[in-house]
Amino acid sequence: MKGLYIHIPFCIKKCIYCDFYSLPYRADLADQYMQAVARRLEKYPVVFDTVYFGGGTPSVFGGTRLAELLKNIQICDGAEITVECNPSTATATFFETIAVAGVNRISIGMQSAVPEELCFLTRRHTPAMVQTAVTSAKNARIDNISVDIMLGLQGQTIQSLQQTLDFCLHLPITHISAYMLKVEPDTPLASYDLSGLPDADTVAEFYLFLCKYLQQHGFTQYEISNFSKPGYACEHNLLYWNCEPYLGIGPAAHSFWNGKRMHFPRDLKGFLQGAYPVSDGAGGGIDEYIMLRLRLTEGLRFDLLKQRGYPPLNQQFLKNCVSLASQGYLILDNTGVRLTPKGFLVQNQILGRLL
Ligand code: SF4
Repeated sequence: MKGLYIHIPFCIKKCIYCDFYSLPYRADLADQYMQAVARRLEKYPVVFDTVYFGGGTPSVFGGTRLAELLKNIQICDGAEITVECNPSTATATFFETIAVAGVNRISIGMQSAVPEELCFLTRRHTPAMVQTAVTSAKNARIDNISVDIMLGLQGQTIQSLQQTLDFCLHLPITHISAYMLKVEPDTPLASYDLSGLPDADTVAEFYLFLCKYLQQHGFTQYEISNFSKPGYACEHNLLYWNCEPYLGIGPAAHSFWNGKRMHFPRDLKGFLQGAYPVSDGAGGGIDEYIMLRLRLTEGLRFDLLKQRGYPPLNQQFLKNCVSLASQGYLILDNTGVRLTPKGFLVQNQILGRLL
């Protein structure tokens, strides 16, 4: 399996918490960017199994440019092709254009169904716009629809989280991603008074509530932050967690290609002028594989470890697993090791202990 990620580095306006690489949208830059990406793609005569347009805001870039880019990509039959959309910029025409071009999955940046929480995030959309975007996507025959939501927002409570989840559950969607708000340095949010944010224990309570609530309502957790209806796990993101190759094109895009990790600098101008990606060294070692697989609810499978040619796990690793299992952080059986929801909350500490 091989995936292609294309970063679209444009947004209408920067949200206060966001540190993804994006610049204010300009039509002339977007045209230049489309041509620069097409030129890069010529260097990779590869048939991809998944394609993912992320950002930034691909819906600002526009359906026509995305469709044009797709003409330059060789894609296998039945490939999953995803486009991230912002509810404030995704129109019915946008969905019709990308659907005709072959897009069959969208991911909508919803974040919350509570207007005050959206306002805190400086998002430009309303819950009604999310509903409209989903309806327009369905009308364009894009049935595989994901929404992103956030935990740990100012003023968020279990009740308001449930309001957001109930809103999602009434939408004809197949997938939900739930991320915890992280205050990134160098974002405007970092300089705000953050005393109103829920503390870590409260956010942990939100997370455990969400996992249980979504499970009860037909969305199975398959990764720390991802939940889907049966058969709708995101194939592209699964490539990352399965340590499969993927090519990232665009400023700030990362790749794991031919056994090497690399990324493009966060510099649109440099990318337009033909800058090369920067090497991050070799990838795909056993520690990396363990780290990525433990993000999945399926966890680390002994048969897959063997199939990929990794050495058996050492005794100390397994001894630590037994100890963590007795504390409810993971499950160890004869098929492998997998974290519990309680374990996902402290995944970094668990990895620190295991690796
Ligand atoms: S729309 Fe998305 S990518 Fe753009 S600034 Fe907001 S959160 Fe970041």
